[in-house]
Amino acid sequence: MKITNIRTHIVMPINKLAWVFVEVDTDQGISGLGECTEYIGNPHLVRGLEAVKPLVIGTDPRHIEEIWQRLFHAYSNLNSRGYISHLISAIDIALWDIRGKVLGVPIYELLGGPVRKEVSLYTHVRDQWHSPDVDTMMTEAREAKEMGYLAIKTDPFPPQLSSLNSPFKGATQVEYLDAKAIVEAVKWMEALRETVGPHFELLVDAHGRFDVASAIKACHALAHIDLVWFEEPTHVESDNALRQVRENTNVPLCVGERHFTRWDYWQLLNDRLVDYVMPDVAWCGGISEWRRIAAMAEVQYIRVSPHDALGPIALAASFQLSMATPNLYREECLHTWFPHMEGLITPMLDIRAGSIYPSGQPGLGIELDMDGINEYRVDIDDLQASLPY
Ligand SMILES: [Mg+2]
Repeated sequence: MKITNIRTHIVMPINKLAWVFVEVDTDQGISGLGECTEYIGNPHLVRGLEAVKPLVIGTDPRHIEEIWQRLFHAYSNLNSRGYISHLISAIDIALWDIRGKVLGVPIYELLGGPVRKEVSLYTHVRDQWHSPDVDTMMTEAREAKEMGYLAIKTDPFPPQLSSLNSPFKGATQVEYLDAKAIVEAVKWMEALRETVGPHFELLVDAHGRFDVASAIKACHALAHIDLVWFEEPTHVESDNALRQVRENTNVPLCVGERHFTRWDYWQLLNDRLVDYVMPDVAWCGGISEWRRIAAMAEVQYIRVSPHDALGPIALAASFQLSMATPNLYREECLHTWFPHMEGLITPMLDIRAGSIYPSGQPGLGIELDMDGINEYRVDIDDLQASLPY
């Protein structure tokens, strides 16, 4: 069996949010699906998938680990993490899909079999970061709870601090939380807590925006909300900054969507800097690497939760991993995006009452719906025009 091509599909079913899907073709008529959407980085990823073709075409798709290592080491001068691990992820997911289809089993069967009957999701209500409308947020929370979700995440920190709103239109600085902003964040979370009740699970995402002192103040101010986790309190580059937050709060911490491959995780896991990790299967190095990171977390009795704010192929890959991962918290989703996914894949994932249920179909259990793909297809120039910077 040989790989014959890598094809990329860029679709934009949601205004200005494009998803990057790949299909890895073989000489036996079986193709595997992958994804490596990273909104700002999408144009680079589309070009990168073209550039790695000579390293992949002609190889045997059964040799998943050999292809992973080949790509990782070929680009070691580029650090092999971040941009490169995104490219590896898309191809790795597709190779596991091919393997499952060849053998006629879901990917979770190849990972040791299921350890649960369904995968519980957590979802989002609007972030105050994007839209400071507390009443709408409370309505969204009530609706999500009624749909069966048991956990919700939001970014409660006010939008005027967002670097996206900077006049320079870029992440130009580490952000500072003043007293007013912290009061507003507390109001946001108290309103959410009041809406969902005392036993509902709440998560806060700081999107890695704050300086250490602001992050510590925010953790203290939100301690009474009883959070599952406070996510990315500081910028990703400094473990020492994270350590300082860690040493000054009892609020559980989580990082991971900006950590790629096992080499970004081992030190922070070993130093016990967080209580949860959330690698993204489409960014961290694919199914192969997500599985290894989860096992490293298990050694420290730390739970893992797939970061998931991308398209349906990433959601399906995270689901396969979640089915076979003992130390799972919940899988992330944005449930309001499900209607946009329905027209792009077939069958749609079986999602009921806040959980995804296995279909038993081989591989990822989905195929692309080419009518939907072609309806929402954009090219790289459209992609570039859709970027906020
Ligand atoms: Mg996040």
